[in-house]
Amino acid sequence: MPDTMKVFNPAAPDEVVAQISATPTDELPEIARRARAAFEVWRKVPMGERAVKLEAFLAAIQASVDEIALSIALEQGKPLREARAETMKSVAEARAMVAHAMTVGTAAAASARPGVRNMIVRRPRGVIGALTPWNFPILTPMRKIAPALAFGNAIILKPSEFTPTAALVIERLAGQHLPDGLVQVVIGDGTLGQALCRSDLAGITFTGSVAVGRKVAAAAAEALSEVSLELGGKNAVVVNDLTDIKKAVAAIAGAAMQCAGQRCTAISRVVVADDIAEPFVEALARHCQALKVGDGRADDTDIGAITTEGQLRKIEELVASGRDAGARLVVGGQRAAVADRPNGRFFAPTVFDRVTPDMRIAREEIFGPVISVIRYGDFDEAIRIVNDTPFGLTSALFSNRNDLINRFIDDVQSGMIHINHGTTPDSHMPFGGVADSGLGAYSVGASAAAFYTTEHAVYNQYA
Ligand code: NAD
Repeated sequence: MPDTMKVFNPAAPDEVVAQISATPTDELPEIARRARAAFEVWRKVPMGERAVKLEAFLAAIQASVDEIALSIALEQGKPLREARAETMKSVAEARAMVAHAMTVGTAAAASARPGVRNMIVRRPRGVIGALTPWNFPILTPMRKIAPALAFGNAIILKPSEFTPTAALVIERLAGQHLPDGLVQVVIGDGTLGQALCRSDLAGITFTGSVAVGRKVAAAAAEALSEVSLELGGKNAVVVNDLTDIKKAVAAIAGAAMQCAGQRCTAISRVVVADDIAEPFVEALARHCQALKVGDGRADDTDIGAITTEGQLRKIEELVASGRDAGARLVVGGQRAAVADRPNGRFFAPTVFDRVTPDMRIAREEIFGPVISVIRYGDFDEAIRIVNDTPFGLTSALFSNRNDLINRFIDDVQSGMIHINHGTTPDSHMPFGGVADSGLGAYSVGASAAAFYTTEHAVYNQYA
């Protein structure tokens, strides 16, 4: 890893948007020592006071929304509108986690003996190491920083080497409102990430790919650190019967194309009943074709740039595999030309029809603006197709049939389930996946307490 890291604009890859000093691996012990010192101070701050200080930090993030959104659009490529929404959502989720942390603490428990009062006490876990990917440069870091701090921990965050600048704004704002050393950001690639995982911290929380997740879990196991993983997805929506085709198409295309499809919760497979497939695919293709691809800073951009060259090549390779395997390309299928950004990494919104479940485009996470339509005969087949994946992050069903809706809720392999809308989650609801999409506590919601705190059984004999 070079001493200085350059961050590039994916809409104009020759443009350097930031030059940042990389963190030498041998500085990690000192960084961990500072974090432990900050933890010893913060853990003793009463929850009510902690909440007031955290609110000042969150208000500062909110007030900096324009600065943060611009840094996200420049380093990640998404439209400014989405970058602002991402920033505001990260604040909303953080507030929900702080409110939740206020309710978690000591619980009374029954005693087996007379004269003994039993309690179950939860305490902050310690110093948390966090590793995040490049697609949501503030939302994912804040999904780790907020619960860590709300439950009384310190945190060392390693953001993606491709999108570190938004996290550095967060570190600066934390430094203005919170004890020194409580939130530290380290800059580097996977080598630094692996070293952080091996730093004997109290917990490691990771969001990223399955392959790296396995390495993180192995390193955390070696150090006997608690671990929480949020991994990839191959999310499906089932379209069984529709009363409003336009509304469903807008919701599905939105969930598939937002962030140029570079979302772990992006809809990638659209599983459509045979009898409505023709008009549905036609309407979906028309909608996608009308989306404007361009620089994230332009007001009329719907789909921004693909963040890394490697990711763009992966999308191209998978799209080519779909063509070769005999899927019908309905729209898109190649890089998109953007007039004033000739070298930008753009990919046209793409829809494949007549995809079969064995094709690579139906099985592998594409992480790009690509929809694979798979047609089905009966609902059993639809459920089989949805569950025919190692992933289990999010899924959706469009139907007005109560029996099918309840079957879907019971049978689908998915941490998050949506009925008659896209896959955007609420800020206070549990966020996470089952099967290969996650391990351990979810990052948002009540289960986070299990990761960010430790449990203690207390027996207090008073008579
Ligand atoms: P990635 O797994 O390549 O990298 C994630 C982070 O881990 C980065 O900070 C990276 O530097 C670091 N890292 C790389 N190698 C490491 C190693 N050996 N040890 C420790 N850390 C290492 O992921 P990415 O390409 O940045 O992001 C895309 C992936 O993230 C997709 O698979 C996507 O589905 C997933 N993702 C999941 C969620 C979720 O909440 N489930 C959210 C966003 C992204």
